[in-house]
Amino acid sequence: SLRIERLKFAYGDATILDGIDLSVHEGEFLALLGPSGSGKSTLLRLIAGLEAPTAGLVSAGGRPVAGPGTDRAVVFQHYALFPWMTVVDNVAEAVAKAHPTLSRGERRERAQAQLARVGLGEVGRHHPFELSGGMQQRAAIARALALESPFLLMDEPFGALDPINRARLQDLLVEVWRGSSPRRTVVFVTHDVDEALLLADRVAVMGANPGRVIAEYPVAFDRPRQRAALFKDAGFH
Ligand code: ATP
Ligand code: MG
Repeated sequence: SLRIERLKFAYGDATILDGIDLSVHEGEFLALLGPSGSGKSTLLRLIAGLEAPTAGLVSAGGRPVAGPGTDRAVVFQHYALFPWMTVVDNVAEAVAKAHPTLSRGERRERAQAQLARVGLGEVGRHHPFELSGGMQQRAAIARALALESPFLLMDEPFGALDPINRARLQDLLVEVWRGSSPRRTVVFVTHDVDEALLLADRVAVMGANPGRVIAEYPVAFDRPRQRAALFKDAGFH
């Protein structure tokens, strides 16, 4: 499980997160909504261990987060592939972290299979800059899945995808999440209320000035009504 307690974070005197309390239990899929600038990416970076709290605590699997770790795979809002490696090597590096004893050939084979799952079976030998934005995003998702980590932190992972690939990747994510045992714990940042209601078990909404979680709901059976409430809460008009 993931526990965030009285979490505060500031850049200099600018308070970005002002007391976040949020728990995500093991195997749960949480969607995080909120207006631009409310601190969603910052919160994800703190969970990833890429920033340290100004106050409060983040723990993952019962241990305080004190830096990045292979237990927490991250898909960044602006996909961060290693530009000097081919696409398949980017993914193979994650496979190596999950399975250190595999041979180089086996790593690349698994990386290639992971790329095929996101529809990139043909571009592994290219470098990231040779791919479109949406393709780079899918490669970043393949890399995150290849880590096979218990926590999956995704920051608007489907934002740059065309509608068909978006639907495909949504299906793949749910398939991976449902199929893993034990189930992975997912924190999924999105601006898209419909996507949140489609994928998540629970939705948390962040508000700006300063960043706090202002509402939390289990995903309701009556989604149309909940959709209207979420649009209002998340400040989307
Ligand atoms: P979006 O939906 O646009 O991605 P967000 O909810 O992810 O927004 P963050 O990127 O977490 O928001 O930013 C929250 C606040 O922190 C913003 O006011 C932003 O200006 C500020 N901020 C982010 N990064 C830095 C930084 N490196 N230095 C100073 N302030 C920053
Ligand atoms: Mg963001």
